[in-house]
Amino acid sequence: MPASSFVSQRLAPFGTTIFTEMTRLATEHGAVNLAQGFPDFDGPELAKEAAIAAIRAGRNQYARMLGDPALNQAIAARWQRTTGQVIDPDAQVTVTSGCTEAIPAAMLGLINPGERVVLFEPYYDSYRACVSLAGAVPVFVTLRPRGDGSGFEFDPDELRRVMQTRPRAIVVNTPHNPTGKVYSREELSLIASLCIEHGVLAITDEVYSELVYEPDQPHISLATLPGMAERTITLNSLGKSFSLTGWKIGWAIAPAELTRCVRAAHQFLTFATCTPMQLGAAAILTEGDGYVRSLVADYRRRRDFLSAALSGLGMRVYQPAGSYFIMADHSALGFADDVAFCRHLTEHIKVAAIPPSVFYDNPEHGRRFARFAFCKKDQTLEEAVRRLGALRR
Ligand code: GLN
Repeated sequence: MPASSFVSQRLAPFGTTIFTEMTRLATEHGAVNLAQGFPDFDGPELAKEAAIAAIRAGRNQYARMLGDPALNQAIAARWQRTTGQVIDPDAQVTVTSGCTEAIPAAMLGLINPGERVVLFEPYYDSYRACVSLAGAVPVFVTLRPRGDGSGFEFDPDELRRVMQTRPRAIVVNTPHNPTGKVYSREELSLIASLCIEHGVLAITDEVYSELVYEPDQPHISLATLPGMAERTITLNSLGKSFSLTGWKIGWAIAPAELTRCVRAAHQFLTFATCTPMQLGAAAILTEGDGYVRSLVADYRRRRDFLSAALSGLGMRVYQPAGSYFIMADHSALGFADDVAFCRHLTEHIKVAAIPPSVFYDNPEHGRRFARFAFCKKDQTLEEAVRRLGALRR
């Protein structure tokens, strides 16, 4: 959908997000929505009960700007459990309205107009728009599919060249949306050494950190690499790990000095995040490890089911090691590009997927692919696969 003619120059290039567009199209055509990444099942009772109890207990006014103390503490404790790093919950954790707010809070708080920001493409669409909101200049490093089909990788020399231009920051999203790539220790070490050599800040989006499926490809936080804790802003959220995407609870972890910059923006973006949901989040972050374990087991099975089905239809599947997305190459099926393919899928096959060319600076790189979300009930995926069978005819 084109932007309104009144929209500001900063935002005019971005139109309406592909997630809104594809979900609208899916609804219009009665399609199974494997486009927008959200679970079609409910999150854990424990979180819901804790949020309801908070509402009943009258916790309905503004939260503290930096987050309710209980949630800041739960986030710091979880970070210590997963990384071994001890952080100060009040000085180093900022609660935001989803990671989607943490991204502009970090960028607006830390990046000056005209400064460069490195993005790996394909990128989650909001990075590109927020770089623009900050008046900064995006520079791109392309993740390309490996010849053996095992996933996506970047060219280390391309990254070195871009980092030599002394960008202000690099954005690293691992596990990666849309490819499902989990950055390896070697890749992160190269990124870290270039950040240190050239004085570059790292903003990491780790919202799929809990959703990893291969024991030999664990999630690693860039902030845990030597020399990186002091220059990394680690963003995460509740939504993906606990199937609560509508709660919009996210956070930024950073050294105190960088945290002050994130808050400089956060206080004017939303000021504070919904109070009772923060209390529900604190409860599930503290007591929800069992929920995450069973969710990951379900998602691994659903990933394998959907990727086998897509391969069976003649698509080349790049098996994701993390996230809840599958990138599949549809070129063997004879469609002009990703937009034509996803439109046909939604309107005629009645299954919606995301055309990923919008996630590239150079859309050509994305034309062969479609992104399918598998964060859905077994029955939903079974119905989608039954409908996709019509592609054979
Ligand atoms: N992160 C989800 C996705 O990639 C949804 C994003 C959104 O709807 N803005 O599908």
